[in-house]
Amino acid sequence: MDHFLYRDGMLCAEDVPLAEIAASVGTPFYCYSAATLTRHYKLFDEALDGMEHLVCYAMKANSNQAVLKLLGDLGAGMDVVSGGEYRRARAAGIPGERIVFSGVGKTEEEMQTAIEGGIRQFNIESEPEMARLSGVAARLGAEVPVTIRVNPDVDAKTHEKIATGKSENKFGIPISRASAVYAQAAKLPGLKVIGIDVHIGSQLVDLDPFRLAFRKVAELTEQLRAEGHEISRLDLGGGLGIPYERSNADPPLPRDFGQVIREEVGHLGCEIEIEPGRLIAGNAGVLVSEVIYVKEGEDRQFLIVDAAMNDLIRPAMYGAHHDIIPLNEPAPGAEPARYDVVGPVCESGDTFTKGRDMAAMAPGELIAFRSAGAYGAVMASEYNSRPMIPEVLVQKDQFAVIRARPSFDEMINRDTIPEWL
Ligand SMILES: *Cc1c(COP(=O)(O)O)cnc(C)c1O
Repeated sequence: MDHFLYRDGMLCAEDVPLAEIAASVGTPFYCYSAATLTRHYKLFDEALDGMEHLVCYAMKANSNQAVLKLLGDLGAGMDVVSGGEYRRARAAGIPGERIVFSGVGKTEEEMQTAIEGGIRQFNIESEPEMARLSGVAARLGAEVPVTIRVNPDVDAKTHEKIATGKSENKFGIPISRASAVYAQAAKLPGLKVIGIDVHIGSQLVDLDPFRLAFRKVAELTEQLRAEGHEISRLDLGGGLGIPYERSNADPPLPRDFGQVIREEVGHLGCEIEIEPGRLIAGNAGVLVSEVIYVKEGEDRQFLIVDAAMNDLIRPAMYGAHHDIIPLNEPAPGAEPARYDVVGPVCESGDTFTKGRDMAAMAPGELIAFRSAGAYGAVMASEYNSRPMIPEVLVQKDQFAVIRARPSFDEMINRDTIPEWL
């Protein structure tokens, strides 16, 4: 459920017509709903009710500081995957003790930044990283809490680019090596092993892979405890999928996800962390765009819009589906049309969808790409010298620009021409 609904024939974000925002900030732009973000965070928080837990929002999904502040004020922690994300979370007011640091390629500089700034735990992804972190922590005279990310070799049955829990993926250590790696970790200075981490992929629409992975983590917990390790925290990752297609989707709910956690690891008495990103932010955002042309092709019609693959790359990168709806609600019984919806970028990959049956559109009219709040703005670029588009946050009847569109000069002046040219 989200808060983008038609009212009096106009698509609104909560109580604000999106057309009103378009008139104020221009198109294209991203718009997020505070009520939807809040709702989704609370669903996860409530799903783990009765277990000691922390919901660490995976901020790579949408890292605007207004979004982080909103979630942080509700009590969320953050899962960060770079020094930049760590700094951004801190800038948004998230305390270090609520930040977990994931990622396969942490550098010494990133480790030092997080240790000095305060960190809840590092999720270690390899033996060389473990040795490096030990060295940095020891040099700083710190003892840092760590989990080790295990790769359970479970098929998440999702898009290959976002599956992370198979043995061929770069993430974590093979679960078969866990015993040896934990023994090694226990000997290293500067590290305090406190738990196990797992994250098997993104946009999972079936709970079975989670169940399999969590069961393996439960078995490993008991084994490691028997080997003398204190395992008191389980970070179970994120990855719950969202209904990108309203018409035919029914992915599991956070409540069901929480139930699987309870059933598989609840008896262990561990503190539980989860790292949802997409489900919190995805359906809390839309991308609003204006139709520039309707172009007749040989055998098809192209709807050429002012948003492009540089603004929302998911269709080009993952073949992802986004529902596309007009800002003006179509009259009942209105004739639909069939379009290839494309952007202005000079690549055929700049295609949002092909042969989509949707409301008939005319130049100047506005559309919304739904489910664009996660992995949208954060993956944007200025390819084709198209300035980054603004982000807007709505709460009830108010809206604010939370990242402004740079001027053309601001974009262009970031280059420097050497004086010797
Ligand atoms: C990307 C990622 C997540 C979030 O995944 P979602 O599908 O957005 O919920 C969580 N944890 C780690 C380690 C990740 O890399």
